[in-house]
Amino acid sequence: MTTNEELFTRALGVIPGGVDSPVRAYGSVGGVPPFITSAKGAYVKDATGRTYVDLVCSWGPALLGHSHPAVIEAVQKAAAKGLSFGAPTEAEVELAELIRSRVSAAERVRFVSTGTEATMTAMRLARGATGRDLIVKFAGCYHGHSDALLAAAGSGVATGGLPGSAGVPTAVTAQTIVLPYHDEVALEECFATRGQEIAAVICEGAPANMGVVDPGSFNLAIRRVTEKYGALMILDEVLTGFRVSAGGMWGLRSASEGGWAPDLFAFGKVVGGGMPLAAVGGRADVMNLLAPLGPVYQAGTLSGNPLATAAGIATLKLANQGVYDHVDSAAQTVIDIVSSALVAEGVPFGIQRAGSLFSIAFGDEAAQAPLINYAQMQAQDTWRHPAFFHAFLDAGVSLPPSLFEAWFVSASHGEREFEAIAAAAPIAARAAARAVKPQ
Ligand SMILES: *Cc1c(COP(=O)(O)O)cnc(C)c1O
Repeated sequence: MTTNEELFTRALGVIPGGVDSPVRAYGSVGGVPPFITSAKGAYVKDATGRTYVDLVCSWGPALLGHSHPAVIEAVQKAAAKGLSFGAPTEAEVELAELIRSRVSAAERVRFVSTGTEATMTAMRLARGATGRDLIVKFAGCYHGHSDALLAAAGSGVATGGLPGSAGVPTAVTAQTIVLPYHDEVALEECFATRGQEIAAVICEGAPANMGVVDPGSFNLAIRRVTEKYGALMILDEVLTGFRVSAGGMWGLRSASEGGWAPDLFAFGKVVGGGMPLAAVGGRADVMNLLAPLGPVYQAGTLSGNPLATAAGIATLKLANQGVYDHVDSAAQTVIDIVSSALVAEGVPFGIQRAGSLFSIAFGDEAAQAPLINYAQMQAQDTWRHPAFFHAFLDAGVSLPPSLFEAWFVSASHGEREFEAIAAAAPIAARAAARAVKPQ
């Protein structure tokens, strides 16, 4: 049998940091990441044959749980007919129609392979549509790893404690304005001074890459100011889309907030059902600026790949209201279990939540009220997290290896998994309580 240590050593010799996406390296929690061999339902299995209750869910896509039989069958059937054609298929049309039936404001949809491409394309479209260059983003929001959007990005950039990224030209960062999240005054002031130069404001449906933050009325505020100045609003629902509700965060909140809609959406994660698929969607007049109809170029050899579209269609067809209700209540159950364990050990913490997405924040400030921006998130008692995380892992529960990521549950998380989490939580809470603040 191969151990995770042996695999990690081998990986380090051939893959930078041993991983293909930074957070997987366990940098902020220490230790060796389990190398996963298979996943089923609420569980992942590592190279040693050990299984873990999975609260990462591939960072969101596994809404139904891993390896849902209907999704696997759909992919197998598609694979038998050919892996890639480089030509249009009926499945792409069907998936685009499914998306629009859930998110009516996504009047047109273009498929790409990753969330990064989706936000990058949305940004180019906004610039093409407005003839303006500047993009406004919020500190701690992650929109993938394209040059212009890496400024003050959350997720792995936050976990690694990096200021941004080397290799991004200053000329590119100069086109990105970074504002604090939930700061309507800063947003208004920014537009009052540079409103005529701003192509778009991009925001997450609910920030979930600096830990989870409830948007409250901030999406509506963004909509109002962008409309006033003729800028576009790009709602990045790569993580929240089709996960927090059938229509994502927009579907969950827009109707009760005056019916606002962004001009453009970015989708990813759940929409591909675990396969590399993402999408840009939005207003028909803006979307139709894309080549071949319009002057904004975008293309992809594997875009709308038949295996990926098959997984997306099967996933969305199964993701009914019952699934969303289950995921909501499973999130609440996990929150209750972990909260009572932390309370029992006297650890100061708060629950950060938006829909079914949640994360834990450590510290007195988090215990007072939910944290609302990146500066607050970074000021947590982050030193409590490694011990908390590893106690859970040792007990067979795999949490996101960073305080700056959301926890994910699925339609497959039920009583058996809650029991495992409940058995591990007191040990993890004790480890968090005993963690020592570095001097
Ligand atoms: C994951 C994520 C992305 C990037 O998607 P990739 O498929 O990893 O490129 C973009 N935006 C948000 C909000 C995300 O959570």
